[in-house]
Amino acid sequence: MSKRTLIIGAGGVGNVVAFKCAMNSDTFGKITLASRTLSKCEKITKNIKEKVGVEIKIASIDADSVEELVELFNSVKPNVVINVALPYQDLTIMDACVACGVDYLDTANYEHPDTAKFEYKEQWARDKAFKEAKIMGLLGSGFDPGVTNVFCAYAQKHYFDEIHTIDILDCNAGDHGYAFATNFNPEINLREVSANGRYWQKNDNGQGEWIETKPMEIMQVWNYPEIGKKDSYLLYHEEMESLIKHIKGLKRIRFFMTFSQSYLTHMKCLENVGMLGIKEVEHKGVKIVPMEFLSTLLPDPASLGERTKGKTNIGIYAKGLKDGKEKTVYIYQVSDHEECYKEVMSQAVSYTTGVPAMIGAKLMLEEKWKGEGVFNMEEFDPDPFMEELMIQGLPWKIREFE
Ligand code: NDP
Repeated sequence: MSKRTLIIGAGGVGNVVAFKCAMNSDTFGKITLASRTLSKCEKITKNIKEKVGVEIKIASIDADSVEELVELFNSVKPNVVINVALPYQDLTIMDACVACGVDYLDTANYEHPDTAKFEYKEQWARDKAFKEAKIMGLLGSGFDPGVTNVFCAYAQKHYFDEIHTIDILDCNAGDHGYAFATNFNPEINLREVSANGRYWQKNDNGQGEWIETKPMEIMQVWNYPEIGKKDSYLLYHEEMESLIKHIKGLKRIRFFMTFSQSYLTHMKCLENVGMLGIKEVEHKGVKIVPMEFLSTLLPDPASLGERTKGKTNIGIYAKGLKDGKEKTVYIYQVSDHEECYKEVMSQAVSYTTGVPAMIGAKLMLEEKWKGEGVFNMEEFDPDPFMEELMIQGLPWKIREFE
């Protein structure tokens, strides 16, 4: 019987997921795209009809309301819900999935609009409810988190007996021609990069501990294949929280992302004047959240696609032991912004998030990744995911150093 797929969120990533599901419609069956603003869904589905020839249904939804979601799920009757709205909606969508017995997938961990915490706690706490409802929840099926977790699981399965250190390296060398813009949702992006940095390591007593740093305090220059050397800054990133639970023998894990000096200067300036604030302020009798107002001023990330040139390179650099010998493995994926735009009318940051979301959902529908409860990506066999990456537009490479 034909499957039914519901995608929630018609932003930059939602566009890619909808395109890619349509390009794999044998698996995804009847596809519905729902978002807060119906006109965004209309625009995406019109482009898909023209470019791919597949008809996608649309619906408007306030995904902050479990009640509305349950009504939508009861009418669409999806086999899987792909949540590519914002992290604020993760819990309501998960709860509606439990109420209706539908499998769930997302690409970013839950965040409360008032506190940028970046942790899985509240989503992991739903494991019991997912088990009782006999449904599967796949958390963080984007690129990072997502593919980076799968790269770690692949390194663990095929290259190491024990992995001691992992550095996750995220480089975007794209240029959109604006003085300042963010490549995905500005609010989520700026909250992430303006927060304190954090990495995890085992201390001398063998206890794991998180070491906190000031924002952008630690910089290293990494040499990214097909791009070159780039300043890369240590940030906290959510996949580390699950990887420390699942990678054997881990002693340290860090995450680095590239930023240009111009981006950092803009960000510092916005921060200094209070524009990154997430608490309400009163302006001429009206209450506004500075960060939300800034989002309104900045270019819509979905509009950057046709202007962006250059490449992204995201990967993991792992060191450890195999048969008693030390070795290093670097697994990475390079995408080209213009090539992505040609295929699905989105730049590479949305593309590299949307394609893994589609692949995660595909493996769930095909029951290659199967389970009851809430899971992170590295808990499943990485091989089918790695194979899909190769054929769905995200070919990866591996380098081994003895
Ligand atoms: P956008 O802001 O472009 O799109 C978000 C979409 O969600 C918009 O279409 C928006 O609505 C919709 N939305 C927001 N609130 C609601 C609501 N209450 N009800 C229904 N729809 C709502 O973001 P992106 O596409 O750039 O990012 C999507 C997700 O992907 C985010 O969670 C982000 O954190 C994640 N991400 C993950 C990455 C990874 O590698 N793991 C990398 C990049 C992003 P409207 O219809 O009004 O526009």
